[in-house]
Order: sequence, then structure tokens, then C-alpha cells
Amino acid sequence: DGGNQREFDYFKLTVQWPGTFCRRTRHCCSSNACCRGSNAPAEFTIHGLWPDYNDGTWPACCSRSRFNEKEISTLVGALEKYWPSLSCGSSSTCHGGKGSFWAHEKHGTCSFPVVRDEYNYFLTALNVYFKYNVTKVLNDAGYLPSNTEKYPLGGIVSAIQNAFHVTPEIACSNGALQEVRLCFYKDFQPRECAVGSILLPDMSLLKSSCPKYVSLPAYVS
Ligand code: 5GP
Ligand code: 5GP
Repeated sequence: DGGNQREFDYFKLTVQWPGTFCRRTRHCCSSNACCRGSNAPAEFTIHGLWPDYNDGTWPACCSRSRFNEKEISTLVGALEKYWPSLSCGSSSTCHGGKGSFWAHEKHGTCSFPVVRDEYNYFLTALNVYFKYNVTKVLNDAGYLPSNTEKYPLGGIVSAIQNAFHVTPEIACSNGALQEVRLCFYKDFQPRECAVGSILLPDMSLLKSSCPKYVSLPAYVS
């Protein structure tokens, strides 16, 4: 219970690239969207909507309320499509137990009361994800999934800057783009992230795990 933690400063929407994440999938399980064959996601999907502090830290597990899937029953169809788990391992929850990727969103409880409740937390995440469509921005700029091309990180960053007027944080895994993170004020106007998104003159990102040229792997079953 972190009930007395101070309120967060801003939101960070993190989206993940299934083509990268799914390359390390070794076995299939019912929860793993990588294993849906031709129905595997072909766009960035949601990893989380995270409340953060300006100093680069973040609160977690802010209320005693438990994740209750019933509260989001009307959103489950959309969440399965746009916020699927790409992993078989169950996630840790605020109460030390194990739960779904959604229940893992200990971050959600720290978003209250800026988002009213669990239902509004997930609905808000979906709405922000639809409005700031990273997949569309990259596709429109010519960065298409490929298992042969490599793209300049600076070009990817510029495409997102041009579209949203803020600098994204970018994370990679083995030279492949894995996550894009976008930051927002509490009213969901875009803002710069506090740390980790400082663009150097050569267009590389401070603290980025990415090389100068990154791949955007196509999903292969
Ligand atoms: P990673 O080591 O993959 O960057 O992060 C591991 C986990 O720590 C994330 O999945 C997330 O739960 C949490 N985390 C990492 N960075 C941030 C952040 O900037 N804000 C918040 N709220 N959580 C983060
Ligand atoms: P984080 O704290 O990094 O947000 O959450 C990572 C936890 O969620 C890990 O325990 C991981 O096994 C689990 N998890 C389940 N599905 C996914 C997924 O699709 N992406 C990531 N990054 N973690 C997932």
C-alpha cells in the first residue's frame, strides 16, 4: 500500500513492437498474442500508461483496491486487441500475487484521481493510444516492418517529433525497436519526458538502448 505517496507529475504512454518482442517467444500459451499466427498484432500495442515524477522515478501500488476484471468487461475486446500480453509469464501485482498483464498495471492505481477509476484508466489509455498513433506515423514516414531494412533512429525520432511536437523515448532490444514512450500532462496534452529523452546533436538519444540504425522486424510465425 503506497496510499500516502504524493501525486504523480505526468503520464507516459509506452507502446511495444510485437515483431521485436515476439522474436524471443520460445513457446506458446493461451495468453501470448505472439502465438496467434496470422492474427498476431502487426502494430504497436500498449505496454502501459504510467504515472511518473519529474525526477525520473515513479510511484507504484497506490491504493488498496484490487484489479477487478469485471469493471473492464466492456473493454476486454479492445484490450485483447490493443493491449495484449506478448509473454507467457504471469506478472506480479501490487499485492505480491500473480496476475494478468492488465492486473500488473500497478501503475493504474497511482493514476487516481486524475483518472477516476479502473474502468477510466483503461479507457483513457486506449483513447490516448488511438489519438497518438505511432504505427501510422512511422508507416506514413516510410518506416515499414521489414526483416532486411535498417532505419536511422534519428529519422524515426524526427517523424514522431513532426507528428506530435515532442521527443519520444525509444528502447531497443538487440538492435530492434522495442518500445516508444510518449509523455503527457495530466490533461493529456503532449509534453517532453523528464529524463531519457534528451536529443543529442547527432540525433541520438541520451540513455537510449538503440544503435544509430534500428530494425523494425516483421512478425514471423
Ligand atoms: P525497463 O527496465 O524495461 O525499462 O522497465 C521495467 C519496468 O519498470 C517497466 O515495464 C515499468 O513497469 C517500469 N518502468 C520503467 N520505466 C518506467 C517509467 O519511466 N515510468 C514508470 N512508471 N514505470 C517505468
Ligand atoms: P513492466 O513492469 O515491465 O511493465 O511489466 C513487465 C511484466 O509484465 C513482466 O513480468 C512480464 O513478464 C509481464 N508481461 C506480460 N506481458 C507482457 C508484454 O506483452 N510486454 C511486457 N513488456 N511485459 C509483459
